[in-house]
Formats: sequence, structure tokens, C-alpha cells
Amino acid sequence: MKIKKGDLVKVTAGKDKGREGKVERAWIDKVLVPGVNQYKKHVKPQGEGRPGEIVTLARPLPVGNVALVCPKCKQQTRVGYKFNNEKKVRICRKCKNEI
Ligand SMILES: [Zn+2]
Repeated sequence: MKIKKGDLVKVTAGKDKGREGKVERAWIDKVLVPGVNQYKKHVKPQGEGRPGEIVTLARPLPVGNVALVCPKCKQQTRVGYKFNNEKKVRICRKCKNEI
């Protein structure tokens, strides 16, 4: 998996293109970034004292629509890999630092 929870990403496609945020959850092909890909959900009234409301929620977006922002060089980058003492680590393709 290239993008992990806690990564800073930039949206590269879709209606929130250009926005940045931290990954809250990551799946194999999707990521959830708070404030990105939001939609309004109408919640029905739930009886006495609980009126209906509209809540704003973030929907996961395809991992192909985001690019990792390197914490070291702050550039939008692609992820590379290298082996460090037989452990696979992610590296920034631009500055070659471990991510
Ligand atoms: Zn970098």
C-alpha cells in the first residue's frame, strides 16, 4: 500500500482538486481525508427532541486521485521503495528521503 494513515496528500483529480489533508483511513484502493470529497447527509427526525438535520461527511476517494506530499521536501511526489537492512521502506522519489 502506497498511502498510509497519517500521510499528507494532495488531491489531484475530482471536485476537491488541489486540496491537501491528512489521511484518516486508508484501504487498498481508497483513502479517507477529512474535509475532502464531502457530501451532505440528511438525517431524518428521530422522534421527540431529535429533529432532522443535515450533516456533512467525507467520503473515501480513490487512491489514484491523490498524490503524496513528502514531509521532508514538501513536494508532491511519487512513492519509491528501497530496502534498509532487509526492511522495505518508502522513499520520496524527489529527495530520496525515507517517508
Ligand atoms: Zn521528498
